[in-house]
Amino acid sequence: MDLRNVIRNIPDFPVKGIQFKDITTLLKDKDAYRYTIDLLTEHCKNLKIDFIAGIEARGFIIGAPVAYNLKVGFIPIRKEGRLPYQVEKITYQLEYGESILEIHKDAFQKGNRVMVIDDLLATGGTTLAVFKLIEKLQGKVVGADFIIELEMLKGREKLKGYEIYSLIKYNI
Ligand code: AMP
Repeated sequence: MDLRNVIRNIPDFPVKGIQFKDITTLLKDKDAYRYTIDLLTEHCKNLKIDFIAGIEARGFIIGAPVAYNLKVGFIPIRKEGRLPYQVEKITYQLEYGESILEIHKDAFQKGNRVMVIDDLLATGGTTLAVFKLIEKLQGKVVGADFIIELEMLKGREKLKGYEIYSLIKYNI
């Protein structure tokens, strides 16, 4: 199955110049969704993962079923102010302005192996921030898995030294 056929490109969303990769068309296709989750599960299964951490919001839709398949716990990484208990937080740069991500301080134990999952790797800024959050809590970052990688934005370079895996790569 070619997942490119179920990913929709929306030009100039949310701002002019961005080619937005819309995965709602993949998610609503029962075969494509299962296939995506199965491939990511297969990639993760021998990595001795203790937890999957998903990045709000699309990382939840992809990360949670992978965690379920692997029989490991799921950790939500959320935008500022949404987690109810004590949090560790990180501020990072977006294309315009900055953003804050948070994780519960007791999300995992020191030394646990945590795999990060999100829908798409662009510049890598979001993923790097999440890696730093996990490391601040003394977790071991196993790597990060994505459905889509926008290669021209060189996220992989920003994340040098970490294991990065994606199912589909775009160059435009
Ligand atoms: P970055 O921090 O630049 O790697 O951006 C990654 C985050 O922004 C991910 O959570 C993506 O869901 C979202 N994102 C960035 N660029 C796009 C795009 N062209 N299409 C869809 N989502 C995007």
